[in-house]
Formats: sequence, structure tokens, C-alpha cells
Amino acid sequence: MQRDKRLFQKIIRRVNNAIKDFAMFSRNDRVLLAVSGGKDSLVLALVLRHLNYNFEVLHIDLHIQGYSREACDKVSNFCEFHEIPFTIISSFDAVGLEVGKLNTANKTCAVCGSIKRQIFNSFASEKGLNVIAVAHNLDDEAAMLFANNRLWHFDYLKKSLPVLQAKQGFVKRVKPLCYVRESELKEFSEQAGIDVVKTTCPFSRYGSRLKYNHILAHAENEFSGFAYDYYLSFIRQFRLVESIEAEQLELQPCKECGELTTSGYCRLCRVKKGEWDN
Ligand code: AMP
Ligand code: ZN
Repeated sequence: MQRDKRLFQKIIRRVNNAIKDFAMFSRNDRVLLAVSGGKDSLVLALVLRHLNYNFEVLHIDLHIQGYSREACDKVSNFCEFHEIPFTIISSFDAVGLEVGKLNTANKTCAVCGSIKRQIFNSFASEKGLNVIAVAHNLDDEAAMLFANNRLWHFDYLKKSLPVLQAKQGFVKRVKPLCYVRESELKEFSEQAGIDVVKTTCPFSRYGSRLKYNHILAHAENEFSGFAYDYYLSFIRQFRLVESIEAEQLELQPCKECGELTTSGYCRLCRVKKGEWDN
């Protein structure tokens, strides 16, 4: 068997195990796959298609100069070539914001995350898709977990779990790549010649994410398998985390747009008012 076929089989096995271990979805579910145009989400699209799941792709045009155009083109070319149903939504059309024009300094990545989440949820709800799959890999999740570990904020720690159950206006969100290493996805996408977005988002250097990725990569160099042990041990203990879940803040509709939020106005409405700092 060719090297890329063997690696693809390995990735398929891991995705299959994650889907089963965490009861992410079955063939009766209708899945929205959020695709950025990067290697992780494009490989996940190939795996879900191979496994015959009922899914469609959503890509959000975030209007980031020097980045979004290429991402939209890569996603549409890929989906057309592989005959995967897809939709591209402009963040401006959906929520009135262009990430490239936000005036949010080093908070841009956080606001961008909120924009994506809101659009994923409303698109899935409107189309009757009952699961949202995102393509965070094991190393992404370990780095995120480490960042949230800094303050041991249980509500944030819970976000690192492979499944976030549906609640109050939020569609169930799952991470089928939670057992797959970043290096495996990179190697496979290169071997298979998948045409992924080459440029990195110009805002990523302002966020803290890359710094945490570097810290975890360093730990991995010192202790082989560190990210795997760290993240999987967390997952194994997740029942414990759930049982000590801090009192949940009640969500209420935003006073401006009705989106569910913990404060009077949702994050996106605060950004529009120029009050974006928390
Ligand atoms: P990121 O936060 O950019 O690492 O992205 C995490 C996940 O969100 C990716 O693996 C994709 O599943 C999804 N995603 C990121 N950017 C987009 C986008 N522009 N459109 C749709 N999904 C996206
Ligand atoms: Zn709002």
C-alpha cells in the first residue's frame, strides 16, 4: 500500500474511534462541517466522506485582506472537485462585521471566534443540521487546554472536551480529529497533494494561541507524547470536571440582537458599539 493510503487509513481509524468513543454522531445525523481551507478541515472532509456520513461544508468568508480570498477559492475548488455540498457565507452579510476591519487590537482572534460560532449555530439551526463538526486536532486541543489551565476556569476547561452537548440555542459541537496529531494531518495532506491555504491569517500573530502552541511543542520535544498524555488524561477525567462544573451563568437574549449572552449585550453588539474589551 502507498504511504499516503496507509496514513489515511490510520487517520480514518482514529476519527472513527473518536466518533464512536464520544457518541459524536451517527449516520442518521445531519452534520455541518466547518471548513477553513486549512489542512485539518480539508482532510476531515475527505474522512467523513469516506465514512459515508451525511454532512455538508460551511466556509465563512471573514473578509481578511490577503487571506480570505484564497481560503474561499481553496474551499470551493476542493468541494467542487470532491462533489461535497458546500456553502460560503460572508460574515458581513450574516452579522454585519468584517474581521479585516475590526478595531479590536489583540482581541481580534477572540472576536473572530465569536463571529464563526454564531454563524455556525444559526446556519445549522436554520438548515436543520443537528451537529457542528470542527477540525481542531489533538495538538490544538492540548494547547487550548493548557491556556485555559492557567486560571483553572472550569467553564473554559470544559470547552476542550471532544463533545459540547447542545444547549439553549447552541447546536451540539464535536471534534472528530481529537485523536489525530497535527504532524499526521500535515504529512497526509502533503503526501496526498491536497491544495490547502498557504498563507497564515495575518491576525494570528497578535493572538496568544501560537505562543501556547509553541509551549506545547517544546514540552513535546522534552517529553515525547506529552500532548497526547496531557489531553487524553484530561478527557478520561472529564466526568470529574463535569461533576464540579461551576454554577452556570444563565444566558439571556442580547438587548440589541437577541443572540444568547451572559451580559446585557452580546460580544458582537459590544464590538459594534466600540466596547470590545471584555
Ligand atoms: P481556528 O480557530 O481558526 O483554528 O479554527 C478552528 C476550526 O474552526 C477549524 O478547524 C474549522 O473547522 C473551523 N473554521 C475556522 N475558520 C473557518 C472559516 N473561515 N469558515 C468555516 N470554518 C472555519
Ligand atoms: Zn447582540
